[in-house]
Amino acid sequence: MNVANGNAIVVVVLSGDVAGELSDELLEQAPAKEANTMVAAMSDLDLRMAVILPRRVRRVATGRIDTVSVVSIRQNAYVANLDLELMLTDLETLVNIESPSRDVQALVVSAAALSSLIEQRLGGTAEIIDSPVGPHVHWSGGGEPKVLVLGHHDTVFPFGTVAARPFKVVEGRAMGPGVFDMKAGIVQAIHGLAQLPDLSGVEILFSADEETGSHDSRGLIVQRALACGVALVLEPSADGGALKTARKGTGTFELLIHGRASHAGLEPEKGVNALIEAAHQVLAVSTLGDTTTGTTVTPTLASAGTADNVVPALAKVTIDVRVEAPGEKERIEAAMAGLHAHLSESRLELRGGINRPPMPASSSAWLFPLAVQVASDLGLGEIAGVAVGGGSDGNFTAANGVATLDGLGAVGGGAHADHEYVLVATMPDRARLLGGIVAALQAR
Ligand SMILES: [Zn+2]
Repeated sequence: MNVANGNAIVVVVLSGDVAGELSDELLEQAPAKEANTMVAAMSDLDLRMAVILPRRVRRVATGRIDTVSVVSIRQNAYVANLDLELMLTDLETLVNIESPSRDVQALVVSAAALSSLIEQRLGGTAEIIDSPVGPHVHWSGGGEPKVLVLGHHDTVFPFGTVAARPFKVVEGRAMGPGVFDMKAGIVQAIHGLAQLPDLSGVEILFSADEETGSHDSRGLIVQRALACGVALVLEPSADGGALKTARKGTGTFELLIHGRASHAGLEPEKGVNALIEAAHQVLAVSTLGDTTTGTTVTPTLASAGTADNVVPALAKVTIDVRVEAPGEKERIEAAMAGLHAHLSESRLELRGGINRPPMPASSSAWLFPLAVQVASDLGLGEIAGVAVGGGSDGNFTAANGVATLDGLGAVGGGAHADHEYVLVATMPDRARLLGGIVAALQAR
């Protein structure tokens, strides 16, 4: 189905032994899921074979349907192809195969499961790309690359989490480690793409190290994104399903403060107190943020010392940095590098930096309106776009000039937290949205 043409929504009348009528009015009244059930009940035909193209119905010969005629064209017929039960089965499989970042053994199993799922649903061969941090998974629909569907299969949850809280669905919410960030996004994308009659120009890349900064996969991600020219990122949506049109650049600094130990009771004057020096540094970095440019600099972790009665010889402070305006990355990096010690004999050592450059709003300047149009054509209603503080691999693709739209994954909440969840009822529509956007990009 070429949804790029947009105005085409299909309602068909099937006639034959087992066929019923699917009228415009009926569809109008029926939520998508019921429409699905109605269509399925009408015949045993595999609905995928009746993929309806604008102004054209492709009829496939099995089933007992005598005629298929187009009454009017609405995209709602498309949803009938999505099988939520199957999506949930695939989601359960992926969630219950744990894939913590850095756990190479677990990631090997996860990559194998993921590649076999892709092959099962989309055909072709998914390539497993080994890396020291665990394998990435790449798949191509062939032809000239036009769109990269980008995600990650690692999660922030340690191995063993599934034993404590395996995949489950309670009151319409799917739960389990990594379900929201981003296994449901992966499942939606695969099922959304499976609806398209042709996947040429489409590439999929699922990396194994996004949650730890994508240090290994970054080169591969940028290479494939540049080859495709467009990146659709499957990170979870913002509130209410909003897409992510801009992201701040993100970084973590670690400041090590070296002093000198001494006995806190007998001769404290002989020590150099790294904790006191750390206090000076925390106050100094806390002034580097700038609300007018959206830059935040936040000390988040601190530790010092070895015992109650010892002047601490070492302190450590971790600082979270977010930047969005041009030049702010450089300003903060220079300011951090320019920090100086207050106590005469203490010494500072700075590690880390701003890893992910900002994803500016310009990177989604034409992609977001296209997504809005697709959502409207598919009857999915209005869709919002928001700028967010968190980083993703979309930051890397955007920084390399690749048109990038993010937040195309699951609708739910609680990312990285134990109560993380996905709203199950939204999954088919999100799959349709992703499939629709890809189809529109293929048609460009
Ligand atoms: Zn993620």
